Formats: sequence, structure tokens, C-alpha cells
Amino acid sequence: MARIPKGYWEKRSTDLLKNIEQQTIFTINSLIQVYNKATDNINKEISKIFSNYSKETGLSRKALEKLLNTRETETHYKNLLKVIDNDITDDDIKKKLLAKYNAPAYAFRISRYQALQDTIDIELKKLANIEKDITKIRYVDTISEGYYRNIFDIQKGLGIGFNFSQLDKRMIDLLLNKKWYDKANYSDRIWDNNEKLSNYLSTALLADNLTGKSIQKMSNEIKEVMNVGLYSATRLVRTETNYFANQAEMLSYEELGIEEYQFIATLDKITCKHCAELDKKVFKVKEAKAGKNCPPIHPNDRCTTVAEFDDNNIEDLQRRARNENGKTMLISQDIKYKEWSMQYAPEQYKKYYVNPNLPKTKSVQSSILEKQLGFYDEIGKLNFIPKNAIISNVYIIAGRETQTVFRSANKYAQAFGGKAQEWMKKVGKIESDKYIFDIHWVEHRKYGKYDFKLKGKTLK
Ligand SMILES: [Zn+2]
Repeated sequence: MARIPKGYWEKRSTDLLKNIEQQTIFTINSLIQVYNKATDNINKEISKIFSNYSKETGLSRKALEKLLNTRETETHYKNLLKVIDNDITDDDIKKKLLAKYNAPAYAFRISRYQALQDTIDIELKKLANIEKDITKIRYVDTISEGYYRNIFDIQKGLGIGFNFSQLDKRMIDLLLNKKWYDKANYSDRIWDNNEKLSNYLSTALLADNLTGKSIQKMSNEIKEVMNVGLYSATRLVRTETNYFANQAEMLSYEELGIEEYQFIATLDKITCKHCAELDKKVFKVKEAKAGKNCPPIHPNDRCTTVAEFDDNNIEDLQRRARNENGKTMLISQDIKYKEWSMQYAPEQYKKYYVNPNLPKTKSVQSSILEKQLGFYDEIGKLNFIPKNAIISNVYIIAGRETQTVFRSANKYAQAFGGKAQEWMKKVGKIESDKYIFDIHWVEHRKYGKYDFKLKGKTLK
């Protein structure tokens, strides 16, 4: 078999990473929305307490002390527990919060100042909860995409359709939970960043800056601090996405018996000076270590790797591509990834489309599914998510109210009405009795919802 020039693999590999990076834009957009929402909520809470006392000029030290030392009512405490119970779905975060707030004595010793701190803390924990949810969706997708696309690229590059194992949920979970840099995983890092933010807002900012400041000034300072938090969250998504993409590549190398890989620092040659020394160096897959010889080497790293084939690998893959009759299964040079994945990727990685002939309906309530959605289950049987199922964790990811351009908005405006800028792309989660899906659709407030897609099916 003719050797494929190195440039081919490098391009494949950097294209793969660019593709994955592009999808983080949606996640980052959702993060911007949820951070803004949390900032608004915190500022509203602060105004509620202070606006009666200070409209413009801020409070005197004496007035402030009096106000903040007032004992809070038990209603506050009950509300707080209710919020934890209703809004925190992540078991880990819930456990930590209940340990902190569930002490019976707690209700009797809280001052208004403490109450305000708690409200900020809980608001931020709600944020951590959502941040974990939406970034996890991205990482699971990144791992699958990194693994399957890399195998696709190698099959296409070599022109042969060898056998390979599917990624299973256990492997994905293992990778998600694995602690890497600083003995932490993505979820630990979200928690740490969130704790820092919470401490900063509820102690330093409130305690030191309340006196003599107008609510407007305080609210601007809170916005600034929250923006720092958002910056950390964004950097975390970019870095962890690079981590999961490269780890998924390592999994695919292992699966294909490829023992060595080459470090590729092509994406950011200028800015990535940390990685210049590693560029083109070859390492053993078994010894790959993120942060040392496998990307990411530093925050926001955009480096990647390519497989180092030797003759044994290629012979072995050719052997694996032979069917029972001894014939080598070939892969067409024209095959597109979408086609390939429908054939080779597992069920939960496929995308499901609703029957487009179903009648159009107008939007009634945003959290209700108005159509019955069809999908194929793991034994290939057509199944349905019933009409009126509840969609939770809904976010707008493009179009109206976001910074992201919704490219097909025009098409929807022409077909169904309204202006292009009023259309938006939304995502959410839906639970059937057996599965949890991610669901995507296109929506106009007046002209309804269209083109539902189900993605990322996981068993409950
Ligand atoms: Zn780099």
C-alpha cells in the first residue's frame, strides 16, 4: 500500500480539532446566558434588601450595621431549602449544600447579612449545576467525535474498513471522571472556580464595599467579578474540550494498536510557544500524559496529535479489514463522515430526525413537546417520545438574544413567517421512561417550533 504523505494526517487531525472547537462556541454562548442571568438575579436580590434604605448615595456605616444585623425570618431559611431542593439537580452539589444549610440551628442564627451571603452562594451553586450540565453534554460529544472521527480519518486515509470496538458509556464515564491536571477533573474545577467566585462575592465584595456605595456601583462591581468567573468558565471549556478530544484520540490509537503518536503544534504556531519544543516529537501512547507530552499543555491550548504508523500496524489493520471470505473491506474515498457514522457509530451517537410530514403546530408552552418524536431504539425498532413530554434545561444557542448567528434563520422566516432575527435555535433535555435525550429545535415565539432533533441518547 502506498504511504500517505504526512501532511495528509496533519491536516486531518487539525481539521478534526477545529471542528470540535467550533462546537464549543454554542456551549460558551449558553454559559454567557446563564452567567448573565445569575448576575441579574444576584443584583436583584441586593437591590431588594437595600433599595428601601438607599436609593442613590449608599448607606452610612451605622445604618448599614443596623440593617445587616437584623435577624432574618425563618421564611428565608425555608425558601433557601426549597431552592436547593428544586433547582439543584446535581447530587454532588446538593449533598454539599445540604451539609452546609440543613442544620436545624442554622435558621435561628442567621442575620440579614448572612442571608444575603447565602442567597448569593445558592445562586452561584445553581450556576455551577447548569455549568456542569451543559459542559458535560459538550464533553461527551467531544469524546465520541474525537474517537469515531479519528477512526474514520484513518480508515479513509488507508482506504480500508477494519473492525473496531465501539466506545461504551463506561469508557466515556471513566474518562469524564478521571482526574488529570492538579488532581482534579472538569467537575472539580467547576466547583473550585465557583467556590472562589462565591467567596469573593459574598465576603470580600459585600463586607468591604457595602458602605458608602450606591447600588448601581455595587451592581457594576458584581458584574465585573462575574465576568472574571465567566472568563474562567470559558477557558475551562476550551481547555477541557482539547483534553477530551486528545484523550479520545489516544483511545482510538490504543484500539487500533498504534503504539506511538506525534505531537502537532500546528494550530497556533505563534502563540503556542510552550508547545514549540514538543512539536513533531514522537511519544508512546502508553506514556501519554496530558500537560506533559500530550495536549493540552497549558490553558486554552489548541495542539493535537497524529498517529505514528509502522509497517506492523498497517499489516494488522489490513488483517482486521478482511471479512470471513478473506476479502479486504474497502472504504470509498468519497464517503462523508455523516454517512460513515450512521453505519459504524453506535446508536447513542447518531442523530434522530422527526418525521418532517407531521403537521405544524404553534408554540403553546415553552417546556412542552408538542409533537410526538420518533427515534430508533437499540434493537432498531421505531419508538416514540410522547407528545406533551417535558423539556427541561432549555437554552437558546443561536439567533435571537444571543451573540451567535443563526445561519438558516432566513429559511425559516421565509417558510413560516416573522423576521430572520426573531428566529432562534434552542437546546434542552428530555426524559422518556427509559432514556434521557438532548433535544435541539428551531423556534419563533409566535410562529412555533420546528425541526426537532434528538441527540446524545443515554439510558437512565
Ligand atoms: Zn500547544
